[in-house]
Amino acid sequence: MTILIIEDEIKLVDILKQALKTERYSVDAAYDGQEGLDKALKNNYDIIILDIMLPKRDGVDVCKELRAHQIQTPIIMLTAKGLVEDRVAGLNIGADDYLVKPFGMNELFARVRAILRRRKTTDSDIVSMGDLIMDRVKHEVMRDGKIIKLTPKEYLLLDMLITHRGEALSRKKLIEGVWSPNFKESNNELNVHIRYLRRKIDLKGLKPLIHTIRGVGFSMKE
Ligand code: CA
Repeated sequence: MTILIIEDEIKLVDILKQALKTERYSVDAAYDGQEGLDKALKNNYDIIILDIMLPKRDGVDVCKELRAHQIQTPIIMLTAKGLVEDRVAGLNIGADDYLVKPFGMNELFARVRAILRRRKTTDSDIVSMGDLIMDRVKHEVMRDGKIIKLTPKEYLLLDMLITHRGEALSRKKLIEGVWSPNFKESNNELNVHIRYLRRKIDLKGLKPLIHTIRGVGFSMKE
């Protein structure tokens, strides 16, 4: 499950990222409306959390634009207390739900879970690469017919790599996605987790799927 947060309040983004990660969601973030729109058009997300007050393009505009492009990803709008709330409720802009700031994390989790329950199983729930299967609904990973037990961080890493299959994912992007933007890259943390993940995924005798891209980061491909 990958969630895109589009919000310009960096502190709030950090809090949301941390909270969602502990619930084992992968998180990507954009800090203005245009960046958010670009990301949402380019990548496949399971849910988009979209603030209304944003630089460059506001959330209402981004939401309309996504729907106009036939992007049906569920959207939870974030609104400040007051007028905007009524505006969103009154406007039929294609958002699935909205939350009034400030909100508690449990409230957010409840909305996210409700959306995921409502949603039908789609292709993106079960992804595979060769004999590796990742079931994002059951949070289960299988390779060569056997279930592989992953820690939450290993799962997030694999989810990011498989979402961006074929791409060279930079160390920075992986660290931001799995830890946090403020996480000081000591290099080792990421390397250690990749090593554990490889030990579990790329077993002896099987085709390696996780590849090191020198000077950049890592990539997942057959
Ligand atoms: Ca904002």
